[in-house]
Amino acid sequence: MALMINEDCTACDACRPVCPNEAISAGDPVFVIDPLRCTECVGAEDEPQCCLVCPADCVVANPEWPESPNDLQAKYDQLHI
Ligand code: SF4
Ligand code: SF4
Repeated sequence: MALMINEDCTACDACRPVCPNEAISAGDPVFVIDPLRCTECVGAEDEPQCCLVCPADCVVANPEWPESPNDLQAKYDQLHI
């Protein structure tokens, strides 16, 4: 399941540089996660790096993108061929 950023985002930019998939970009007013690029960090890290660094605790599951761990790994592999 891709993650998404909710309206509590303060646009601090802590998350964007730690994403292994370059899935995060600045939006208006809140930052945005591209669900086609977010793997919950599967393939690169043990846990979602954006959640770890976010001071606003505003990164949540995106219910429109139900994916299994295998799906997420396949997405990661596709992004990094
Ligand atoms: Fe990027 Fe990982 Fe956050 Fe997804 S969970 S946006 S891959 S840092
Ligand atoms: Fe927004 Fe959290 Fe990213 Fe900062 S770390 S830009 S508050 S989602």
